[in-house]
Amino acid sequence: MNETTHQTFETDGVPIKAWTRGVPFETEAEEQVRRLATLPFLHKWVAVMPDVHAGKGATVGSVIATNGAIIPAAVGVDIGCGMIAVETTLTASHLPDDLKEIRSAIEAAVPHGRTNNGGPGDRGAWGDAPERVQKAWAELAPAYEAIVKENPSIGRGTAIGHLGTLGTGNHFIEVCLDERDHVWFMLHSGSRGVGNRIGSHFIDLAKKDMKRWFIHLPDADLAYIPDGSETFGQYWRALAWAQEFARTNRALMMEATIMAVRKTGLLPSFELAREAVNCHHNYVSKEHHYGKDVWVTRKGAVRAGEGELGIIPGSMGAKSFIVRGLGNRESFCSCSHGAGRKMSRTAAKRAFSLEDHARMTAGIECRKDEDVIDETPGAYKSIDDVMHAQRDLVEVVRTLRQVVCVKG
Ligand code: 5GP
Ligand code: MN
Ligand code: MN
Repeated sequence: MNETTHQTFETDGVPIKAWTRGVPFETEAEEQVRRLATLPFLHKWVAVMPDVHAGKGATVGSVIATNGAIIPAAVGVDIGCGMIAVETTLTASHLPDDLKEIRSAIEAAVPHGRTNNGGPGDRGAWGDAPERVQKAWAELAPAYEAIVKENPSIGRGTAIGHLGTLGTGNHFIEVCLDERDHVWFMLHSGSRGVGNRIGSHFIDLAKKDMKRWFIHLPDADLAYIPDGSETFGQYWRALAWAQEFARTNRALMMEATIMAVRKTGLLPSFELAREAVNCHHNYVSKEHHYGKDVWVTRKGAVRAGEGELGIIPGSMGAKSFIVRGLGNRESFCSCSHGAGRKMSRTAAKRAFSLEDHARMTAGIECRKDEDVIDETPGAYKSIDDVMHAQRDLVEVVRTLRQVVCVKG
């Protein structure tokens, strides 16, 4: 498909290419992208995805290619946040009518909310961290020690305590059915507390350096770390490590989910139908675009290189998609990471009642309490509109709808 769906905006800096036809692109978010566009080290333009909304420091749903610097706030503090999905050999007819037990089994097996995995030194209610978590940590530990040595203020904290845990709010685990009634498991999480500390540490460092060098920015949160500096090397190593932690975290939780579901004995024995799709949506990678090696920062965006699989979730009551990238170069080979928030958490709590939430999640085995209303489907943009706006970025491989949703 060669059809171009994006709009181009001229700015005081590089242009903005926005895949936002037919979806809201709020003024606050647009102004934030315009400030970002004025930075001197951007390659070509800023690409804006259809799930765009204002974020802390940089806009969620934005992609930049940079040459000579990285903006830590344009990655954010949930470094490596992303999605994993697996197709199983089960079909809808294998699922029990009442999915409560499946949901409880997942909730019991995967620490979620403000809990940790009960690893050494933790006070978690989850017993000792399972052996497979300990093993995964053993692989991550040496590089982490080196990072903390270089930047002691990151602190040792509870890095291992968070490995294999979901986190809060927007993070979730789902049992889904695709359009052929095949059963999938899908989950959303990132680098938890340790990524947050790494992200915050380097955002602060960058801000301090901007002050020290008398660099005035349109927004202090756009503080950057120049390539070649000592801090840059340290940031890149910490960033790459947190991304690895996040990917491993998702794989461990997927394993725990599958083991827990098997153990219920409610389902016939099953296998995975194909390799998992495990993709970040807040991260940096070294890529080649328009003749240059650049740092690509995706904040709330997924890589959609030609033929590459990605995951675009809707909301706890809307469709989600397994997609195949079309390799659209103008988007720096990217697509949206979801539907994107339409309103703030506070606004959502004001706009929707518990009855609204129950109606929008009817038939789904999920939380239906006051504390989850900020995550209610109505708080997110229409996933159909979002998919339509990026039809030159991805094609749909599978359409999923959840039957169980565990929220952090
Ligand atoms: P973020 O990483 O920015 O918090 O969210 C990623 C995307 O996940 C959101 O934009 C939204 O479209 C989607 N999402 C949020 N909660 C859920 C959920 O419970 N289930 C599914 N399938 N998608 C969700
Ligand atoms: Mn996250
Ligand atoms: Mn996320």
